[in-house]
Amino acid sequence: MKLDEIRSHARNWYSEHWSPDLTVMHWWETLGRSGWGYPGWPLERLGRGLAPAEVRVVRDERRRIGALGPPSGIGPSLMVPILLKHGTEEQLDRYLPQLAWGGATMCQMLSEPDAGSDLAGVTTTAERDGDEWVITGSKIWTSLANEVDYGMMLARTDWDVPKHRGLTFFLIARDQPGVDVRPLRTMTGGVSFNQVFFDEARVPAADVIGSPGDGWNVTRTFLVLEKNSYHPGSHEGGPFGKVDLTSTCGELLQRQKDSKAASRQGRGVGRMITELTDWSGRGDDPLVRQSLANLHWLRQSVGSLQGPANKIAVSRLTSSQRDVGLGLAGAHGMLKNDDSPSSAFASFAIGTPALSIAGGTDEIQRNSIGEKILGLPPEPKPDPNLSFREERR
Ligand SMILES: Cc1cc2nc3c(=O)[nH]c(=O)nc-3n(C[C@H](O)[C@H](O)[C@H](O)COP(=O)(O)OP(=O)(O)OC[C@H]3O[C@@H](n4cnc5c(N)ncnc54)[C@H](O)[C@@H]3O)c2cc1C
Repeated sequence: MKLDEIRSHARNWYSEHWSPDLTVMHWWETLGRSGWGYPGWPLERLGRGLAPAEVRVVRDERRRIGALGPPSGIGPSLMVPILLKHGTEEQLDRYLPQLAWGGATMCQMLSEPDAGSDLAGVTTTAERDGDEWVITGSKIWTSLANEVDYGMMLARTDWDVPKHRGLTFFLIARDQPGVDVRPLRTMTGGVSFNQVFFDEARVPAADVIGSPGDGWNVTRTFLVLEKNSYHPGSHEGGPFGKVDLTSTCGELLQRQKDSKAASRQGRGVGRMITELTDWSGRGDDPLVRQSLANLHWLRQSVGSLQGPANKIAVSRLTSSQRDVGLGLAGAHGMLKNDDSPSSAFASFAIGTPALSIAGGTDEIQRNSIGEKILGLPPEPKPDPNLSFREERR
């Protein structure tokens, strides 16, 4: 189908079905079942099998009409592609509707206090007990773990085989007695991630993704998807977190608008930098003009790169925005009180280091480009035949 035809089909469908008076639950189910909610998913799995450029056309039409987007976030953008590649038919039947319209949310339970860049070194352990796995250990930096329904989790199921071969990927229900989520406060003053402790938490055997021992294979799929999840087009555009499914779409959209207006950060970093340029009166300064042009170029790169290069571009764009904005704010950049011209910008600036760490640090992305793309010699690795138990010792 040509792009114009897709546009016209999407436009007709949205005009016929969208109303702000529908409940969120009803709208999401209608959208999900129609295939227009996640048009990039396969035809037989609640999608329309469209290519990325075609998906963008559908999203444009949705935005033009002002309709509420389907749920965004880790579930639809990471878990669904993982399930499509590694999951069973039963898992797809069970989880896709929950994510598309049931309001289920997910987080990533991968990093541990001793395993971040070296993710295959996780020591959280899963032991089989009848139809269940029993999980003991701890995860850290787990964003949103205090509010989601499920965590995608990597655990060690065999210590006596080489490191990468003894891992299994699970989907674990968060709200259960063996899971203790403790919030971590960051230097921004907020709480966006947590440490999670597992004390004999339970996962049904049916919630192993892939097969036992194949967890690193599934994790590699996750890591590729995660790099690209920093791309602006990787999310559908609807709400990220928990929402009240019984409210009307109109009420939800209004609430989102109000909270964006209340948080001055909602203005967007580009807009804040424009305002700071005007406020500083330095819009004609050639150095300022040059740095604004560089930011523009970096923004274009973020839209056009893939994989580790895109992750590095996002991190560079964020730190460059911070540097340009703080340069314009001068000494005011140190102030975070509400009457400071750069108060919202100061909050953004404090949070920027996160982007060069979350989802794999810049150094790890560079290693990956060096080894996999440029063919440079790999990092020294321990004997590949050593069991994880011996390697740890
Ligand atoms: C805001 C934020 C949100 C996050 N959310 C989540 C989440 O939801 N779920 C989750 O599982 N994790 C999450 N993380 C964790 C994140 O993935 C890890 O912090 C990251 O992978 C780095 O691991 P680490 O903190 O253990 O650092 P380490 O791996 O200990 O690294 C420390 C330093 O050493 C460098 N380094 C390490 N190994 C190498 C190497 N081989 N070559 C060169 N340099 C190296 C690193 O670049 C870094 O500078 C989040 C992190 C942040 C900041």
